[in-house]
Amino acid sequence: MGTFDYDLFVIGAGSGGVRAARLAAQRGKRVAIAEEDKVGGTCVIRGCVPKKLFVTASHFPDSFEDAVGFGWRTEGVHFNWSTLVDNVAGDVAWLSSIYIRNLEAAGAEIIHSRAVLEDAHTVRLMAENRCVTAETILIATGGRPRRDLDIAGIDHIITSNEFFHLPKQPKRVLVVGGGFIAVEIASIFAGLGTETTLMHRGNQILRGFDVDVRRTVCAGIERRGVTVLLEEQLSAIEGERGALTAVTHSGASFNVEEVLLAIGRLPNTDGLGLDKAGVEIDPRGAVVVDAYSRTSVDNIYAVGDVTNRLQFTPVAIREGVAFIETVYGDNPMSVDYDNVPVAVFSTPEVGAVGLTEEEARETFPALHIYRASVKPLPYRIAGRDDRMLLKLIVDADTDRLLGCHMVGPEAGELAQLMAIPVKLGITKRDLDSTVALHPTLAEELVTMHTPAETIRRQAAE
Ligand code: NDP
Repeated sequence: MGTFDYDLFVIGAGSGGVRAARLAAQRGKRVAIAEEDKVGGTCVIRGCVPKKLFVTASHFPDSFEDAVGFGWRTEGVHFNWSTLVDNVAGDVAWLSSIYIRNLEAAGAEIIHSRAVLEDAHTVRLMAENRCVTAETILIATGGRPRRDLDIAGIDHIITSNEFFHLPKQPKRVLVVGGGFIAVEIASIFAGLGTETTLMHRGNQILRGFDVDVRRTVCAGIERRGVTVLLEEQLSAIEGERGALTAVTHSGASFNVEEVLLAIGRLPNTDGLGLDKAGVEIDPRGAVVVDAYSRTSVDNIYAVGDVTNRLQFTPVAIREGVAFIETVYGDNPMSVDYDNVPVAVFSTPEVGAVGLTEEEARETFPALHIYRASVKPLPYRIAGRDDRMLLKLIVDADTDRLLGCHMVGPEAGELAQLMAIPVKLGITKRDLDSTVALHPTLAEELVTMHTPAETIRRQAAE
């Protein structure tokens, strides 16, 4: 061991890498972690954290509107984009500094450089043009937004990376994509008053989510001012940023200030020297790992978005923890990817855990579907039309709760809590035996007594 400079070298200081580096250092290992950008990774620097703050900003106009019904006068309220951008950047910088402080306090060495593999134990630090060696290497370089549409004018697009630093609020935008990021950013823009069009190639947004969730979110964002174009694709972008014309396959054109592409993310493996070290990647460029995050090379592991698994911060952190337990804890640990709760911070917000109706239909012969559509109490006075969707999927044979899907205020918070009973495998009877808490929206989860639908798979002919 003594022949290596470090016990562990982590490439990438995002959620997964930082957690692993910190835990290894706390165990007394000699740890270095290299980062070419700001410490914190996608979640802290250009993802979850700034996004949630922008979402909060985008909700104030609704609050001001609603407040009138409750007796408030709100004339003269004014939004300043630069204040939001600057304050969010300040918060992100503060969080990044906390990450640095925690790493240093644990005894990990932070190296501000791009790091690439020279071989299975050697890392080249590009900023310093020197090599170091490590017994174990952890690749945690995350992912980046795709920009690879083969169309004229593609250089004019922005992605979620640039979104948080736009010097001024665009008056009109086109958001391309129908996944998490497209729907969240379209909601933010619309909430803040930007004329927003969302263009998606499929016949409904949010593929992979429950059918009712997809429908409800689409109707909800449209009600909030987003123009949703389905089964449509971008074919060219003309002009310059600030005055762009986006042309579609069907021949329509849009004059917008920005085109934001949110068509998925790619793993950051380009130029990382994986071939030199013999680390296998899949056709998408993601590092191939086993259940313990070990790559095709024995001493090299990978966690987070650089691997082809669920792309969520808490998942990357869990993978980092499991890696430490496996390698340094004499306790081989893999991550359980079942019943991971998810939220889409669109407006209306999505919270979900467990099987969708479509997934459950494939596996279970009989299902009870419970569905509630509730108007949040304050909306009556506020004069707001939106309703909250709460949906439960139950195995009709065993009464087991298989999935819970919600769209509406704080759906993400509810999904985090509902993840516990779904994970524990509780039954619908358990929910029924729980006393409601009134007046809350969540009380609907324990008061849906009659299935809206019972679905039985037809016996094969
Ligand atoms: P997603 O995979 O969620 O969505 C990609 C979207 O782009 C889909 O609607 C897809 O359509 C569409 N698309 C893909 N290729 C093309 C193409 N060539 N032309 C037009 N449209 C295309 O990716 P995101 O970038 O939104 O997010 C990446 C990941 O990051 C998420 O999957 C999630 O794991 C994570 N994330 C999580 C968040 C959260 O937890 N709240 C927030 C943001 C990101 P189709 O459905 O037809 O394939």
